[in-house]
Amino acid sequence: MLTGANVVLPTGTVKNGRLVVDGKRIVSTAPANAEVIDVTGHWLVPGFVDIHNHGGGGASFSGTADDVLKAIRTHRLHGTTTLVASTVTDEMDLLVQQAGLLSELAEQGDIAGIHFEGPFISPCRKGAHSEELLRDPEPAEVRKLIDAARGKAKMVTLATELPGGLDSVRLLAEHGVIAAIGHTDATYEQTVEAIDAGATVATHLFNAMPTLGHRSPGPIAALLEDERVTVELINDGTHLHPAALELAFHHAGASRVAFITDAMDAAGIGDGRYMLGPLEVEVSEGVARLVHGGSIAGSTLTLDRAFKRAVTIDKLPVQDAVTALSANPARLLGLSDRIGSLEPGKDADLVLLDANFDLKGVMRRGEWVVAPQLP
Ligand SMILES: [Zn+2]
Repeated sequence: MLTGANVVLPTGTVKNGRLVVDGKRIVSTAPANAEVIDVTGHWLVPGFVDIHNHGGGGASFSGTADDVLKAIRTHRLHGTTTLVASTVTDEMDLLVQQAGLLSELAEQGDIAGIHFEGPFISPCRKGAHSEELLRDPEPAEVRKLIDAARGKAKMVTLATELPGGLDSVRLLAEHGVIAAIGHTDATYEQTVEAIDAGATVATHLFNAMPTLGHRSPGPIAALLEDERVTVELINDGTHLHPAALELAFHHAGASRVAFITDAMDAAGIGDGRYMLGPLEVEVSEGVARLVHGGSIAGSTLTLDRAFKRAVTIDKLPVQDAVTALSANPARLLGLSDRIGSLEPGKDADLVLLDANFDLKGVMRRGEWVVAPQLP
């Protein structure tokens, strides 16, 4: 039983509240012999859910099973208790092979599923993806990846304006896989069509897509205005100007924003040379850029930092930050009955933060990943 905390619930924050964990779950009443931990002055928020993440701790989700587990571990230490592993553009054969490996780890409950980012993206907005390996989103090709993931494909990012794009969106929607619009050069009208076809997520809104123009509003306006769409934001201070974040929250509302890391290997480690799929990346002062061309190449963000930034620099209400870091991504994954909020019956996934919003403890499925560090 954790007592004295500001407990952030879906209905609001309970001051001087308590939270009881029994086994793997949150429960409403404490057993008589419950161990009491006094966390007065701290915040208790639901474990973070990251639907777009390529790696961390020096390892990537494109690597071996050991690499994948290392990256998961790194992000767990920073409060991410549920994570979808993202791949980057590579040879189809290699992606099919990696989907097999990741699906096994999803089966074991280590990850919540797979997000394929590329190869079905626009050469004009390729970001840190290998141009020569890009291809049109032919439904038969998209199908190969879904099949290889054996029910564990959660999301595919695609440029829906390319040949086969809309049919692929329909295919994904039929299979219960999120069609995410991203790395796209679509117009406003083309984006509206893709949403009507069943696309429901904007992959890192603002990044790797045409900017908002008053005569050509492009994908950003279409994605922000449609209530069926949730927009991903990378809140690391590099990918987005705070005013762009403010704009997204103002138009979409907190219920339609999902904070993601889009992290690569350097997350949780630091500067140096790394690989992002087949491409070489230089990380300097926490910013990852391609060695050739200089494109931003993912982030070194962890979700605890995204949270702190959201409430201290962006001045978002704590409630809205929690919604964007836990509740919304949990809903997108169809896991709202188990995770995403601190309610009795749900998994005991929680993050303990001090008054400055620095991480002081992480519990996953009732076990401390980071034991409470109390003064
Ligand atoms: Zn990414």
